[in-house]
Amino acid sequence: MSRPGIKIVGSINLDLVASADHLPTPGETVTGATFAQHAGGKGANMALAAQRLGAAVELIGRVGKDAFAEGALALLKAGGVNLDGVTEDESAPTGVALIGVDAKGENQIIVASGANGHLDAADVAGAGPCDAVLCQLEVPVPAVMEAAKIEARLFAVNLAPALPVPAELLERADLLIVNEVEAAYYGEALHRGGGLVALTLGGEGAVLYRAGEEVARMPAYAVPVIDTTGAGDTFCGALVVALAEGMEEGAALRFASAAAALAVTKPGAQPAIPMRKDVEAFLS
Ligand code: ADP
Repeated sequence: MSRPGIKIVGSINLDLVASADHLPTPGETVTGATFAQHAGGKGANMALAAQRLGAAVELIGRVGKDAFAEGALALLKAGGVNLDGVTEDESAPTGVALIGVDAKGENQIIVASGANGHLDAADVAGAGPCDAVLCQLEVPVPAVMEAAKIEARLFAVNLAPALPVPAELLERADLLIVNEVEAAYYGEALHRGGGLVALTLGGEGAVLYRAGEEVARMPAYAVPVIDTTGAGDTFCGALVVALAEGMEEGAALRFASAAAALAVTKPGAQPAIPMRKDVEAFLS
């Protein structure tokens, strides 16, 4: 089929990463660190994943009027994601994650959601029809509720991070995607709407349920694990692309698992997201 049109409503962040010998205790200054910045945010990561995996993606979100916005959007721009729905917030900075990493790989993360926290229903209202809509919970719930009204065959929500949402959101979604922590948080409410629920189990793989009944299961592909950051976001983008293309449920789960497995074999979140041809080669 032709490329499905997917609208993604979600967060856009810049990750500011300092790698040091050890992490500071309160009041301590640690020197001698090295610094890197990476584009992040679940909305942005999923948008890039869906675009690289074969969809025509439009991202709806907010950044600040600052220099961080450019870094946060760079790979999306280069990848051809439509950013017409990304607006510059007048009063809040671009969302950032301040990340400290020590020599053992332990980390410490402080997120300042900034402009993401100002995304509102009006930013989403008026979005035209498309094949699929994908949201997460790093932007305010009213924006996600408005996204549920966009005319689309598939309305999908990655319930991350787990936080209270109206029951009607869970019931309305055609596809809910959760990890084990989120599955425990929402419990049986996940299955009440009778739609698809994808449960990801990290290195153990993923399971797909319909109306609470298991319909497909995929062990994780055995790959050299370099960095699992962004694996879940790649999985979400890939699963929505596959289902929007009309792939059968088992095949869609396989496609998403392969895309996520490839993502863990490279460092970083967005740079590690595979292209469609890489996933197809991996699966053939
Ligand atoms: P999240 O980061 O949202 O918690 P998971 O850790 O459950 O997501 O990972 C999402 C998917 O990524 C898994 O279902 C699996 O398909 C793939 N994945 C994660 N970790 C690995 C791994 N170590 N090896 C292969 N695939 C993995």
